[in-house]
Amino acid sequence: MRLKDKVAFVTGAASGIGREIADTYAREGAAVAIADMNQDAAMAAAADIVAKGGKAIGLACDVTDEAQVEAAVEATVKQLGGVDILVSNAGIQIVHPIEDFTYAEWKKMLAIHLDGAFLTTRACYRHMIASGKGGSIIYMGSVHSKQASVLKAPYVTAKHGLLGLAKTIAKEGAQHKIRANVICPGFVLTPLVKKQIPEQAATLGISQDDVVKKVMLKDTVDGEFTTVADVAEVALLFAAFPTNALTGQSLIVSHGWSME
Ligand code: NAD
Repeated sequence: MRLKDKVAFVTGAASGIGREIADTYAREGAAVAIADMNQDAAMAAAADIVAKGGKAIGLACDVTDEAQVEAAVEATVKQLGGVDILVSNAGIQIVHPIEDFTYAEWKKMLAIHLDGAFLTTRACYRHMIASGKGGSIIYMGSVHSKQASVLKAPYVTAKHGLLGLAKTIAKEGAQHKIRANVICPGFVLTPLVKKQIPEQAATLGISQDDVVKKVMLKDTVDGEFTTVADVAEVALLFAAFPTNALTGQSLIVSHGWSME
């Protein structure tokens, strides 16, 4: 029970990586707010945790909407008694060659990944200061926080940006015992990635099998996908770490795809 008596606010937690992090945190004793724009799925995920004996609430929250973020964090503090851990995880992917991106797609990507990180950080940070206990802020970066791939200009730009945000929060937050770190996963077979496989196959003119083997997993040490459990284990480490020794860092979990 490494997160006993802690409260976690996890965005995009109705699916994929966020869902696994919410389940893991609940198993480790945390009360978890599952914040997702898919309200039905957020409620179902929370009900599932409660059915297993954990503590969770589901909240409708679009991370790009300032009022919704403020309201969701307020509801968490009111219903669960505070907020000690933020996992800013909600994200989407849109792939095109740069010349085919519309301005609206570019802005949507930066809004979800960067505006969402800012808005959730600010809302949770204020409560972490007020409680006097500090907290742990975790951003879901990517191997694309460290390197680029074709077709992903806004995603790579946004994921690189999270490193700057985490380093700044690490410096500003230290005096309040607030830590900030970034998890950088390789490819994880969630709905976000499953959707990309046929899209990339069409754009690159190769088979779906080749997208997996020759594009996504080409540079891993063993040709394997990273799993949601792998990522949740790192999220647990960052959440439970007791001191400012581990702050302003980014940890790649990618089967050796990237070793930067
Ligand atoms: P997913 O599609 O399974 O889950 C994403 C969740 O985010 C969904 O429940 C969706 O409803 C929610 N969401 C989307 N937009 C939102 C918004 N505006 N407000 C609130 N919720 C919103 O995706 P995933 O693969 O679990 O991705 C989670 C995070 O991990 C993303 O930030 C993604 O960039 C990152 N990531 C994923 C991989 C991968 O290979 N799957 C690798 C590296 C990083």
